[in-house]
Amino acid sequence: MVRVSIEGFKPEVDRDQYPIEFVKTHSLLKLKETRDSVTVGTCSPVSAVVMEELKNYHGKKIRFFLVDKSELSAWLGSRLSDITLRSPSEAVYLNHHTRLLIDKLETDAPTVNLVNSILIEGIRREVSDIHIEVDAEATVVRYRIDGQLQTIHRLTQERFNGISSRIKVMANLNIMERRLPQDGRITVHLDSDVFDIRVSIIPIVDGESIVLRLFNKKRKPLNIDQLGLQGDALIRMKSLYHRTQGLVLVTGPTGSGKTTTLNAVLRELRSESLKIVSIEDPVEYITDGVDQIQTNEKIGLTFDTILKRVLRQDPNIIMVGEIRDLQTAELAVRAALTGHLVFSTLHTKDSVSVVTRLKNMGIEGYLISAVLKGALAQRLVRKICDKCRVKKKIGHAERMLLRRYGLDADFLFQGKGCERCNGTGFNGRTGIFELFVSNEEIEAIIASDRREYEVREFLLLRGMERLVIDGLKKACSGVTTVGEVERVAEE
Ligand SMILES: [Zn+2]
Repeated sequence: MVRVSIEGFKPEVDRDQYPIEFVKTHSLLKLKETRDSVTVGTCSPVSAVVMEELKNYHGKKIRFFLVDKSELSAWLGSRLSDITLRSPSEAVYLNHHTRLLIDKLETDAPTVNLVNSILIEGIRREVSDIHIEVDAEATVVRYRIDGQLQTIHRLTQERFNGISSRIKVMANLNIMERRLPQDGRITVHLDSDVFDIRVSIIPIVDGESIVLRLFNKKRKPLNIDQLGLQGDALIRMKSLYHRTQGLVLVTGPTGSGKTTTLNAVLRELRSESLKIVSIEDPVEYITDGVDQIQTNEKIGLTFDTILKRVLRQDPNIIMVGEIRDLQTAELAVRAALTGHLVFSTLHTKDSVSVVTRLKNMGIEGYLISAVLKGALAQRLVRKICDKCRVKKKIGHAERMLLRRYGLDADFLFQGKGCERCNGTGFNGRTGIFELFVSNEEIEAIIASDRREYEVREFLLLRGMERLVIDGLKKACSGVTTVGEVERVAEE
């Protein structure tokens, strides 16, 4: 191998350089990269494994040159002092590894700075997740705000690899891996808040799809009165969860606010005299007074295995994050039959279909009728921004829709768009609900072999308010729009 001087190449310090740990471990660094080849400087012969890794990473020809060990140390030294001077928090990261302080960050290292600013901006705007993808033309960064994805940055295509590597380093992932999906997490401290960021990276045809899900550990959770449950529904919901045993289910698709609702219920029920246990995936809010358990499939801690153990401790109230399979369903039903109050969620389209769903999983009708005390179906709709809300004329289609459900209005509302809502006319979200509470008559119907629509008809006749009607009433009172209700509650 030909010996060269690092000095002569002036390799990039941060941008497009391998992560510092990689440089240190393998005593090699990237000297130069062109469209079809990479020049790597190394202090000793490179092992076949590392050579393979580099080939996969770059996907182009690699030339190796020998560099002096002392010169590499000097280069590393200057790099570290450089960063310490320019970016105190980066130095903290290098020292502690597990903890990232990004609030006081001031650095001109372009990629580090860019990733930090994407995170900080996302946190400030209270996004639920950040999507970063690369296509044939650009690197696209999108935020999900109030359930809707919005493009925030369009960057050059070349920025993507740096961003991806930086996120992998932060999440302790293998930065050389570009062919297999990887999952990790990052803990970020910003002001006095702590954020748990779930990182998911999946290879796609043009590169990778990166999704960061943000969880604010210190976020103030909503109370039961702040969910959007109103009047009679709220009273009946309270009557449901103040029982001492039975099964209460919340249903809806992913991202419909089920966890927020159950969390509000548990917060209401907390008391010194009750033992409350929750099994969650992931733990989204920290709730004092509740023993919260995080599932971990990698080590065999699934909903059913944890629930089995929890039952031996004989708690009063159990929350199971989700019923996905027969094992979990059976355990939840058994717990509810033996003196526990059990809350859980199911993926079904409305409240009544929980019965069909449980039957399809293999639970007998008579057991369901014995334990099921009620089910709440919910969706989230965007709220009209109250800074720019105005009355609007009611359209023909809107009037017809309202009339179909026995409603009417002289006018409706919309957001004009202002600074507060980024011109969208919406700010925040609220729930729309459909609640059924069981009684002896309904228990008999569930235990019989009646069809789902028959059960539904029966409940509607007895005054159960449909999801769409709850939503349309909220549109009439100016909370949301008819369009929002139609979007989430298609009948
Ligand atoms: Zn507004």
